[in-house]
Amino acid sequence: MEKWKEIFRKSLVKTEDLAKHFDIDPEVIRETVANYPMRITPYFLNLIKDKDDPIAKQVIPDAVEMQETSTLCMDDPLSEEADSPVPNLVHRYPDRVLLMVTTQCPIYCRFCTRKRLIGQPGYVTKQTIQQGIDYIAQHPEVRDVILSGGDPLLLSDDYLEWILKSLRAIPHLELIRIGSRVPGSLPQRITKKLCRMLKRYHPLYMNLHFNHPDEITPESKKACERLADAGIPLGSQTVLLKGVNDDPETMKTLMQKLLSIRVKPYYIYQADITKGTDHFRTTVETGINIMQHLRGFTSGMAVPHYVIDAPGGGGKIAVLPPDYILAFNDKEVVLKNYEGEVYRYPQVPQQTTTDLYKNNGHETITENVIYATKFQDPH
Ligand SMILES: *Cc1c(COP(=O)(O)O)cnc(C)c1O
Repeated sequence: MEKWKEIFRKSLVKTEDLAKHFDIDPEVIRETVANYPMRITPYFLNLIKDKDDPIAKQVIPDAVEMQETSTLCMDDPLSEEADSPVPNLVHRYPDRVLLMVTTQCPIYCRFCTRKRLIGQPGYVTKQTIQQGIDYIAQHPEVRDVILSGGDPLLLSDDYLEWILKSLRAIPHLELIRIGSRVPGSLPQRITKKLCRMLKRYHPLYMNLHFNHPDEITPESKKACERLADAGIPLGSQTVLLKGVNDDPETMKTLMQKLLSIRVKPYYIYQADITKGTDHFRTTVETGINIMQHLRGFTSGMAVPHYVIDAPGGGGKIAVLPPDYILAFNDKEVVLKNYEGEVYRYPQVPQQTTTDLYKNNGHETITENVIYATKFQDPH
């Protein structure tokens, strides 16, 4: 057996084993684990220094997952199922789709958006994957596919290659992307053999999930370097999480460390309103404040987009600090820099006046407020 599979098999998955390891009462978490599975690889377990630390919080089941009093959170907050023309494929944007190719992950993040199905058997089969591939083949507008799950890099080399090869046989499909938490949670899986296989399917991009600076280690660095050396451009996705990374210094360190292992920060996500994850949510101001502390204060390369994936299926919406543009008319744009100083940029003379930013006080924004209504209204 390949070494990574042996390591993966030694993951913590049982309530009793976890309880013993961290000296906690198994009864407290039994119901949580029965509803939402747990898995912690030996590698990730080793990163935990204390059972309440930012690494532990991401993977150790908590009784509060089952005790949510808010009725706001939902099983499928992004209405992915309403946007699925075939099982496990989400077609939300004009030119790209997301295809779930497994429900297994190296670690089960307690804040997972797809908590409703991740780790559960039976959802994804070879047949549903084939249906997804057929859907892409039949839709010439799809030029980009994101393989997701679950974690696609948990599939065997041969199985993953079957998917990649089938996708590459579709002439109109330009990009293949893979979303994965494997390099930061089961880095041994990034073998030379895997990389030799992957590099045959370019242009291939990867977005890797990292949430805390302690996840950048010699092992995860080596995994990312191997992928980068195979010519795969690496981006990162980070979820803004209470008690894990919800302060500017932690986030800045994470973004800088990602660049140092050749990963370009891509997205910081506001936490979704997923049932069982309410305790991880922060205010949106927390995220905006973090962005204000990144832009200008460190390499522009280290500054990702901060987005809210709109509840109800509106897609990702970029959230920017509100006042880089102080005023805007056909003569000039008045700007504030990262240190709060004001600068003016003269406009090119133009015939028509733009209405953009006319209502800078926001008092008239009433139109287009869509909240979970997209799929109730056929128009
Ligand atoms: C995030 C996502 C994408 C990709 O979005 P990009 O902004 O292009 O990275 C595509 N489809 C779905 C359903 C998504 O959630």
